[in-house]
Amino acid sequence: MVSSIVWLRDDLRLADNPALDAALQRGNPVCLVYVLDEESPGLRPLGGAASWWLHHSLEALGRQAEALGGALTLRRGGAAAVLQALVEETGADAVFWNRRYGGPERAVDAGIKSWAEEQGLAAASFQANLLFEPWQIQTGSGGPYKVFSPFWRACLEAPEPRKPLEAPPALSSPGAGSEDLAAWHLLPRDPDWSGGLAATWQPGEQGAWARLEDFAGGGVEGYASARERPGVEGSSRLSPHLRFGEISPFQVWEELRHAPETEDARVFRSELGWREFCWQLLYFNPQLATRNYRPEFDGFSWAGRQGLAAWKRGRTGYPLVDAGMRQLWQTGWMHNRVRMATASFLVKNLLIDWRVGESWFWDTLVDADAANNPANWQWVAGSGADASPYFRIFNPVTQSRKFDAAGDYLRRYVPELAGLGKQIHEPWKLADKTGPAAGYPEPIVDLGDTRRRALDAYDRMKNG
Ligand SMILES: Cc1cc2nc3c(=O)[nH]c(=O)nc-3n(C[C@H](O)[C@H](O)[C@H](O)COP(=O)(O)OP(=O)(O)OC[C@H]3O[C@@H](n4cnc5c(N)ncnc54)[C@H](O)[C@@H]3O)c2cc1C
Repeated sequence: MVSSIVWLRDDLRLADNPALDAALQRGNPVCLVYVLDEESPGLRPLGGAASWWLHHSLEALGRQAEALGGALTLRRGGAAAVLQALVEETGADAVFWNRRYGGPERAVDAGIKSWAEEQGLAAASFQANLLFEPWQIQTGSGGPYKVFSPFWRACLEAPEPRKPLEAPPALSSPGAGSEDLAAWHLLPRDPDWSGGLAATWQPGEQGAWARLEDFAGGGVEGYASARERPGVEGSSRLSPHLRFGEISPFQVWEELRHAPETEDARVFRSELGWREFCWQLLYFNPQLATRNYRPEFDGFSWAGRQGLAAWKRGRTGYPLVDAGMRQLWQTGWMHNRVRMATASFLVKNLLIDWRVGESWFWDTLVDADAANNPANWQWVAGSGADASPYFRIFNPVTQSRKFDAAGDYLRRYVPELAGLGKQIHEPWKLADKTGPAAGYPEPIVDLGDTRRRALDAYDRMKNG
């Protein structure tokens, strides 16, 4: 019997999946396939935490497909060769997928589309992972936006995002053999560092919905201020689910479609807008993770790598930086405000190239995202679009005093400091070095000196 192939990538869900929907409408069995493609040129290999997530997400999706009577086929290899083989095996006459927006990914997809059309197969791609296609939102003169606010205003003036599609009630799949997920070795071994991730997250569509309902069930009330406080669960924590497409931005948007127009709802929607903006930046700047968006930063003199190991391990002597880096290591996620503070510390106080920090986040974040990660690193570094001005250097002490005044977040992730009161923000000021904070490092750099050094380096770049 003729079948259709649905090639899943960053859209590991059955609901609101336009490629799957289109295949099902043809009325034939559907071969749902995920290809672990480590061969097509230019694709960025997944980091460790994202690989862990992918394993569990595929496992969850496989279970879901089976519960509906179908199957998820897993194959490893170059996507073109794998899809060609699958067409032969299953006799499929159509290949459908949801669009992705990175440069190398688009090149792979374009090649597959031409091949499929040459073979006389039906081939079609769909909008599923962004609310607004990057080319759809343009400035008056026809180019991409470089500043967030007018970009987001233009999005809000465009037709409102469509309603999400329902999940299929049943699936039937042709008998295409699947590889053994365990043999892909996506999980860490020797040592297995994933215990904290497993305790924090439930990868998969069900886990994504649990988060969304937990968060939006209360109408996002209080989000605008709670999202700033790392010691409380004030944001949605949907980022890894959105990253892997276990939930779509259309589904998240729908939850708020009829919400009252509060400041909380406005701010939350605008965070989804930042995601759109970052992807639009990547679409028009495929080398966003490796090249300064503002080329004048090519002449910036970085200082080397001194302090990098302490930063990665959360042993800089600055409690907010250390708490953030340890949260990242333990849970694969870090609070947004703390991401800004830790990134600023690396780039400005240690004067280490933003690309070094971006790579570490890429390896350790469960939500490591090809657009959001480099765009935000460049935003902090000052080299990006609509970037934070270079002279804005986050002071980790001021930041923790303001956003974690009682020190709850610091205590949770830096247990050596748990016994401290107000001094928790500046433990180096304690007179008694043998007290409760003994063993916690002294600051590895002076904030004032390194701030001046960063501003001098910036001035040299501007004038040089
Ligand atoms: C240095 C640095 C690196 C970052 N790397 C990533 C990354 O790899 N992946 C990632 O998804 N986000 C990244 N962010 C953005 C942001 O920190 C996370 O999206 C956010 O913390 C996720 O938590 P949440 O889902 O609870 O967000 P919420 O506040 O609930 O926001 C909802 C969704 O909006 C999107 N969003 C929120 N803030 C941003 C933002 N600043 N830029 C783009 N999208 C945003 C995310 O998809 C998020 O899930 C980075 C930020 C910084 C400063």
